[in-house]
Amino acid sequence: MIQYQSTRGSKETKTSAQAIIQGIGEDKGLYVPSEIPALPFTFEEMVGKPYKDVAFRVMKAFFEDYTEEELQACIDSAYDSKFEEEEIVPVKKAGDAYFLELYHGPTAAFKDMALSILPYLLTTAMKKENETRKVCILTATSGDTGKAALEGFADVPGTEIVVFYPNQGVSLVQERQMSTQTGENTHVFAINGNFDDAQTGVKNIFSNEKLEEQLTEIGITLSSANSINIGRLVPQVAYYVFGYLRLIEKGVIKEGEAINVVVPTGNFGNILAAYYAGKMGIPVKKFICASNENKVLTDFLNTGTYDLHREFYLTNSPSMDILISSNLERLLYHLAEGKGEEVSRLMKELAEEKQYTVSDAIKAGLKDFYGGYADMEKTGETIGKLYKEEGYLVDTHTAVAYQVYEDYRRETGDETPALLASTASAYKFADSVCQAIGIGKGQDGFASVAKLAEETNVRIPAGLKELDKKEIRHKGVVEIDAMQQAVLDSLQ
Ligand SMILES: *Cc1c(COP(=O)(O)O)cnc(C)c1O
Repeated sequence: MIQYQSTRGSKETKTSAQAIIQGIGEDKGLYVPSEIPALPFTFEEMVGKPYKDVAFRVMKAFFEDYTEEELQACIDSAYDSKFEEEEIVPVKKAGDAYFLELYHGPTAAFKDMALSILPYLLTTAMKKENETRKVCILTATSGDTGKAALEGFADVPGTEIVVFYPNQGVSLVQERQMSTQTGENTHVFAINGNFDDAQTGVKNIFSNEKLEEQLTEIGITLSSANSINIGRLVPQVAYYVFGYLRLIEKGVIKEGEAINVVVPTGNFGNILAAYYAGKMGIPVKKFICASNENKVLTDFLNTGTYDLHREFYLTNSPSMDILISSNLERLLYHLAEGKGEEVSRLMKELAEEKQYTVSDAIKAGLKDFYGGYADMEKTGETIGKLYKEEGYLVDTHTAVAYQVYEDYRRETGDETPALLASTASAYKFADSVCQAIGIGKGQDGFASVAKLAEETNVRIPAGLKELDKKEIRHKGVVEIDAMQQAVLDSLQ
């Protein structure tokens, strides 16, 4: 059976259920499967099958300790009518790429693909491990993750969720998405501080042993929904397999022919899931990793040196404004052929020297990747061009990916069909998209959404519709040093 072990060399092994509960290794490494399973089916067998069938077969190959009934129940609870498209993940051709539309879930961004199933994977794991405490998810968010986690965990039995976001530090639409969240078990607070303060505050709560005791007394254990949990990564592998099957079904490729995969990348989770799909047996020629001005990954893929000595930019693709891409650690581990000590040394160098350079062996493995970036201006131009020439509306993150893909094609002449991860609805970033298509943004975020709908006739995602009219349920604003008390008060 596949076991899960840490990227940093500790010898502990876990079942997938244990790794999902634990979240992060005892040595602070990330859990990786002892081997990446081969696809458990032939392409012929699964072409034309619904998303849930493909997801089940792919996920079962990784989560062998879940019974078929358990996993099926998780999948059925996750990928239901809260997705606005029957297909769950439609694949659409526009310009030179096939867009894998991952944003039709409740919060209109791709994080729903994993965060709608994680609560069920987690509560099932707790039952399997005879953990009788309730689990409380604690999250600091700069906007998108918090809402997707709230939506995923809302009213899931056996769970509570507490989210902290920086007061004035998220967009109006994001703020309202969170403050109107329904669900008896949801708790949302703005903190008087920035995102780093929120993140540090949450980390301090996790390492506070006295609080842990107090929570145990009232029957609660803390957990996190951040993207290093293996329970978020594996569900993402499924949609790349599904996308490949759809390209066969559409007659774009024949069984076994290679594709390119293009991913707008921040924390390296989404593109790593594509890499796992490749290791399972999806033929991929290049993994094209697209960044915005925060192009630490572009430079890393080109040089083998990961270097944090650089300016941090706030861009119009904010979910990719990241300098430390946590999930890259998993790729390093696989390319180092499981030498955890080597990964551990690189991560120590990153923490202490703010940079590291990988071995020649790891560098050789990076050749499957192409790194590129697009700046804000190019991103806007790309949105405008796709809309005017193709009648296809994309958000800023997806536009970064498309622009980098066009650069790749020009540089290499490679015309292999490309599957491009489309990670958010254009409505999520309506201000930027309105400007990019030349209609000017509205008075505020809500007005931009309305304006974009009027201009394009693209349906507004249900979760963003009439957001300004929904009841505000969460009004709490707390000081940084009162976060712990806020958690206790929420749970008592
Ligand atoms: C989170 C996010 C990304 C980046 O995904 P990673 O898995 O962190 O690389 C890209 N686009 C959008 C819209 C996102 O929300």
